[in-house]
Amino acid sequence: MNTQSSLPISFEFFPAKTEAGAEKLLNTAKKLATTNPEFFSVTYGAAGSTRDRTAGTVFDIKNLTNIPTAPHLSCIGANKNEIAELLALYQKHDINRIVALRGDLPSGMGLASGELRYANELVEFIREQSGDQFYLEVAAYPEIHPQAPNAEKDLENFKRKVDAGANSAITQYFFNADSYFYFIERCQKLNIEIPIIPGIMPITNYTKLARFSDACGAEIPRWIRKQLEAYGDDAASIKQFGEHVITQLCEKLINQGVPGVHFYTLNQAEPSLAIVDNLRLGK
Ligand code: FAD
Repeated sequence: MNTQSSLPISFEFFPAKTEAGAEKLLNTAKKLATTNPEFFSVTYGAAGSTRDRTAGTVFDIKNLTNIPTAPHLSCIGANKNEIAELLALYQKHDINRIVALRGDLPSGMGLASGELRYANELVEFIREQSGDQFYLEVAAYPEIHPQAPNAEKDLENFKRKVDAGANSAITQYFFNADSYFYFIERCQKLNIEIPIIPGIMPITNYTKLARFSDACGAEIPRWIRKQLEAYGDDAASIKQFGEHVITQLCEKLINQGVPGVHFYTLNQAEPSLAIVDNLRLGK
């Protein structure tokens, strides 16, 4: 196995709803900080529902760990003033990286809500407002965004975000490395040169994973699904199998020279740490 202890890694969290959850999250961040990640990131609830909690969580994690921490920011349902205010707040707090997204559509809300309809418009707006103040990450979909009319259009739309000024991209999670390699190949043909970091989802709970995957269009291969179903509520076997499958996926990606690895932690340290340890990543 080729391991690269200098390969940039990053970890994503969601803002906790309770005080106990917030304390647990800070503990998780502290444990993951020992791997010396490039950055942490904190998600943004649909249509700004976690606006203040996202910002507060970003500041708390950054103050505690000293690791650069990036807020996610979605534009759906927001107006430009609200976004400009958030950008100013982040500048004031020395935040210099943002994950810029359209965001998920809450039910009943059409694309017409808000002044910015797609992530490329948000990237453009952030560049207009703040120049190069922020390093901007955007989302990429090797298995195609579920609302895209087809793969070609989805790739063109991805390119719009790059052309608008995105510095780097993080993919939706996937379990089939070939989908990522094929996506990269298609990006290269369009002269898309920004780093495209694979997003990695550790496997810890089949029911939750199946629900998430249905919603975001990530395919769980039949052999993984069948094996997880067979384990039922045997958490130890799911953990062992999940760690093995995801370690192998990361090895394949790293051996092909990916520019980094981004973990969807679901606010848990151990599943990501186990994979990082197996791969001898982190410093
Ligand atoms: P876009 O890039 O705008 O694409 C959305 C859809 O519209 C695609 O089908 C695309 O093909 C199409 N499209 C794009 N631009 C155009 C255009 N100009 N004209 C016509 N069609 C277009 N969701 C949250 O709510 N909060 C989060 O914090 C969050 N974090 C995420 C982090 C990562 C790394 C990823 C991969 C996803 C995250 N999501 C988050 C989910 C994301 O918001 C959803 O997948 C959302 O449905 C699309 O967001 P986007 O930024 O990719 O949108």
